[in-house]
Amino acid sequence: MITGSCLCGKVKYAISGQVGDIVHCHCKTCRKAHGSAFSSVAAVNDNDFTVSGSDNLSSFESSEGKRRYFCSNCGTQVYAKRANTQHVILRLGSLDDDPQSSEKSHIWVSEKASWYSINSQLPEHSEF
Ligand SMILES: [Zn+2]
Ligand SMILES: [Zn+2]
Repeated sequence: MITGSCLCGKVKYAISGQVGDIVHCHCKTCRKAHGSAFSSVAAVNDNDFTVSGSDNLSSFESSEGKRRYFCSNCGTQVYAKRANTQHVILRLGSLDDDPQSSEKSHIWVSEKASWYSINSQLPEHSEF
């Protein structure tokens, strides 16, 4: 079991299955939502993802059909969800355990912060 939580601890989650490949997203909405250069994310199947304290989650529809879920007490971004999908897009900074997954790529590099330089061997994609 892989676990994670928000900064204040009111929201906790457990993952019973695999965490997908790790992607670093540089899109503008991730930068704004996380207040950081980019967001590191991975897919987790709905059936493998259990949240406790979900009454403390708020969500924001940052683009049509995509909601970002965050703790309404401390503001930690926990996951995002697109309508009509069978997985959540986990925000890996909220993990308490190693996801036992590996980095795959940088995406939305076209919207990357001008003040951040990518120093990695990973593939870079201007959008997805
Ligand atoms: Zn919290
Ligand atoms: Zn993004």
